[in-house]
Amino acid sequence: MASHIAFFNFPAFGHLNPTLGVVEELVRRGHRVSCTTTDHFAPAIEAVGAEPVRYTSVFGQYYTNPFTPEAISGEGLRTLEEATSLVSQVESFYGDNRPDVILHDFMAWGARFYAAQQNIPTVRLFPSYGVNEHFSIQAKFPMAEMTDPKVMEMVTKLDGMLPGLGFPGMTSMEFFMEPPKRGIIFLPRDFHYDGHTFDERFVFAGPCLGDRSAFQGTWQPPSQDRPVLLISLGTAATGWPEFFRICVEALANSRWDVVMAVGDNMDPAELGDLPANFDVRRSVPQLDVLRHAELFITHGGMNSVMESLYNGVPMIVNPLMSEQRANGLRVEELGFGRLLTRDDFSLEALRKAIDEVSADKSVADRTRAMGEAMRKVDGPAVAADAVESYLAEGAR
Ligand code: UDP
Repeated sequence: MASHIAFFNFPAFGHLNPTLGVVEELVRRGHRVSCTTTDHFAPAIEAVGAEPVRYTSVFGQYYTNPFTPEAISGEGLRTLEEATSLVSQVESFYGDNRPDVILHDFMAWGARFYAAQQNIPTVRLFPSYGVNEHFSIQAKFPMAEMTDPKVMEMVTKLDGMLPGLGFPGMTSMEFFMEPPKRGIIFLPRDFHYDGHTFDERFVFAGPCLGDRSAFQGTWQPPSQDRPVLLISLGTAATGWPEFFRICVEALANSRWDVVMAVGDNMDPAELGDLPANFDVRRSVPQLDVLRHAELFITHGGMNSVMESLYNGVPMIVNPLMSEQRANGLRVEELGFGRLLTRDDFSLEALRKAIDEVSADKSVADRTRAMGEAMRKVDGPAVAADAVESYLAEGAR
């Protein structure tokens, strides 16, 4: 039976991207799908056949801008403001167009507020790690500093708001740690920390990668006989130009064809004359490059890690933030590459890591096997099946 399925998203490509394949699959199965979105992300929503429900985000263009300490400070308070503001902007649309279920990003708290008040069932979407009674990434690697006055301000504010939002007797921390009735995790179970503790309430859909050639173009390797090495610190790379300079020095005129994406915040010209084996751009069609790559030097954003594994490419992870560090630790723990922290980063350390990781056949074999297993999973179908069976069971 066709249902109205609403997606309440969080305005960042890293959160939105994995959901697009699921939206497309649900539309293909005949459901009406509507998605809350800012103008910035509306074309992506329309391209997969969903109905955009526009709102103005309190983040503005923040999520297309670099992560600086100033930009990140107060993120919790803004996320709370975003949640209440989103609900006030979309409730008249959803009042007239009641959804049968709301699928929402784990950071789109507004969906939980709205659904609790309207008694609408929800499915929580995790573009990164899930949460259950045994595991939360926050408990394993505390990220939000509980002594940070801005974090405490948000926690106290939410404590005061929850009873009026349909969560009587619940504290903020309980709200964050409460496992969902249903969850879709966009990782393979084997990569997830404590993946075995996630029961039948959850499905692991993997990264659900779509074709991006329409807006990113394509990429072909410059030669057939030289290995390709990709370097990127993600879309928000900033404040570490030295990293790219050291990469150039480490790999100049080496056996590798190096593709390096420096991000929008650096002009490749700042690197001066480049060795002939380097192709440096602000941005590259990463999925395309990874299809040909043998090694990826990455900041360890979850999308990059998933895309690398999906293509069976070992990694050297140079994290910029604590969650990326957690991802790098997991990559190292599972034998898909090496974590190289900023404190340990140097020309010598990088050269050594490149030589060791690229020469390690067991790393290559394990990563290739992981990629093969991931490519066998039809993530959008797994996610859509979970939503449909939840609805068929009465979504309680
Ligand atoms: N990306 C890309 N080209 C680039 C840099 C990044 O296509 O030159 C894509 C990459 O494939 C991934 C996303 O942008 O899907 C980056 O997400 P991630 O979680 O890895 O890091 P973030 O940029 O959010 O820190």
